[in-house]
Amino acid sequence: MQTYEPILLKNMSRPGYVGSLEDYRGVGGYAMLEKVLKEMSPSDLIDIVKKSGLRGRGGAGFSTGMKWSFIPKDHTGPRYLCCNADESEPGTFKDRQLIERDPHQMLEGIGIACFAIGAHQAYIYIRGEFDLGAEIIQNAIREAYDAKLFGKDLFGTDFDIDVVLHRGAGAYICGEETALLESIEGKRGKPRTKPPFPAIHGLYQEPTVVNNVETLANLPYILKNGPEWYAGIGTQKSTGTRIFSVSGHVKRPGNYEVPLGITLREMIYEIAGGVREDKELKAIIPGGASAPFLKPEHLDARMDFESIAEVGSMLGSGGVTVMDVDTCMVWAAMNLMEFFHHESCGKCTPCREGSAWILQVLRRIEGGLGKPEDIDLLVSLCERIEGKTVCAFGEAEIGPILSTIKNFREEYETHIAEKRCPYRPDAALAIAH
Ligand code: SF4
Repeated sequence: MQTYEPILLKNMSRPGYVGSLEDYRGVGGYAMLEKVLKEMSPSDLIDIVKKSGLRGRGGAGFSTGMKWSFIPKDHTGPRYLCCNADESEPGTFKDRQLIERDPHQMLEGIGIACFAIGAHQAYIYIRGEFDLGAEIIQNAIREAYDAKLFGKDLFGTDFDIDVVLHRGAGAYICGEETALLESIEGKRGKPRTKPPFPAIHGLYQEPTVVNNVETLANLPYILKNGPEWYAGIGTQKSTGTRIFSVSGHVKRPGNYEVPLGITLREMIYEIAGGVREDKELKAIIPGGASAPFLKPEHLDARMDFESIAEVGSMLGSGGVTVMDVDTCMVWAAMNLMEFFHHESCGKCTPCREGSAWILQVLRRIEGGLGKPEDIDLLVSLCERIEGKTVCAFGEAEIGPILSTIKNFREEYETHIAEKRCPYRPDAALAIAH
């Protein structure tokens, strides 16, 4: 495995570093915001970020510089930057660490992104459950305003940036960028039909960019060290480092920042210490609950956007969940469907109704009441959702079902033939209650 040095998690490993403004400025923080405001043009800045290859760290992996360049240059009204801090994907907890342990690198990134797109108003939309994170960000914003790092006429220029923290109310779908915008506007958090995309009609129908916390936190380092430096880390198309949240049946769960392109094997066996109790590995979710399951035969797949897609899954939010040989795959799929059914916003029928039907069939298979035709029924229900919904949640919720049927079909068949869950003897009782 290539040696690596963390970028975003580096400060917090320094002795005594608590993420205060004083700490952050002590390691050169906010120097890049000053530099871009005083010395650069927005188009130069966009070119640098394009050249670095930085791609969104929230899930879709779209080029950040490209996303910024979609904002119409001749627009005379307001433009907005929204920082997506609504980290809700099961198995993902990296933004939480960035927010709680080093909030100013994200805030500096917000300032830089505002300048790039000509926005004078930024919103940070934070997940409702992140009480501590909200308090820490609010304090950090206050510190930054007191130090005149946000507000009017920054660094002696005539550029103003205001930042507002907006707390969500705990809905997973508000991490979807247009649902997030609706929520900030005070409406129910439901995704919008696209097009138009937020770059044209975003917050309050004005041009808007939504960037993830980790994406924004990378910006000061790209500017400090240059786009070539950043592009030299990782792979040709997936540049830089990525913070992976590793959880489940591993010996050392946690957040690990590594260059994109290391293998799943390196991540699980070298970095996270291997499977708990040295059991055999059964399944891996490589990119949050929305990512299809992989098998041990995929251990040599590289953790970059392209390679994980090639083996039939996605890098998504960077949440890696590891399951050992004693994990029931029907239960795992059912567990995720409980979540997705609960979180469906209900706007479109295939997702709202389909998630309920899929859950019902999974419950009866896991509970020992499955019928031989239920596996095909599940596939058919998934096909009625795929590509027929307003947002990508539809594809996300069927990923665990179709991938467990594809990779572990025999487990479904055993549940049905034996009329019980071979892994969880109490499953029928538990589901009945
Ligand atoms: Fe809502 Fe689901 Fe439709 Fe997305 S796919 S808009 S979550 S009902």
